[in-house]
Amino acid sequence: MLSKKVVLTFPQPLLDKAIVYRLIKDYNLIFNILQARITPDEEGVMILEIRGKREDYKAGVDYLRETGVKVRPLNESIFWRESECTHCGLCTDVCPTQALTLERPEMRVRFEKKRCIACELCISLCPVRAIERRVNKKRKSDEDI
Ligand code: SF4
Ligand code: SF4
Repeated sequence: MLSKKVVLTFPQPLLDKAIVYRLIKDYNLIFNILQARITPDEEGVMILEIRGKREDYKAGVDYLRETGVKVRPLNESIFWRESECTHCGLCTDVCPTQALTLERPEMRVRFEKKRCIACELCISLCPVRAIERRVNKKRKSDEDI
C-alpha cells in the first residue's frame, strides 16, 4: 500500500466541481484532507494524504491532471528571506500551521521551518517576494510523484 502527501491546486472554474470524491469511487483510493483553502487569487489549494495501490494512485493522479487540477508532491521546502521581509504580516494571516507568526510587541515576523508544510499559501501573498519554494533535489520533476 502506497501513501503519499500531495498538494492539489484547483483553478477558479473548478472550485464548485465535485472532483476529489472520484478518487474513492473510481480509483479505489483513500484520502485524508490535511488542509483546504481558497487563496487570494481564488484558486483552491487542498493538501491530501492519499493511500492505495500504486497503479490506482497513478491513474487517480492522471485523472486529476486531465480535469485541470495541478498536482505536486508535498516534499518541497519553503525559504523565507528575512533580509527582504518588510514584516507586513500578510503571510501570517494565511499560514495554517503557524510556521509564520507575527511576534508582538516587536511586530516582527518569525519563520519556524519545522512547522511549515509547504502549502505555498503564503507565497503569492508576499508583496516583496520574500518567500520562495525550492524543489527537493531528489525529485526529478512534477511528473515524478
Ligand atoms: S508554505 Fe509553510 S509558511 Fe507558507 S503558509 Fe504554508 S505552512 Fe505556512
Ligand atoms: S508577506 Fe512577505 S513581506 Fe510581509 S511579513 Fe510575510 S514574508 Fe514578510
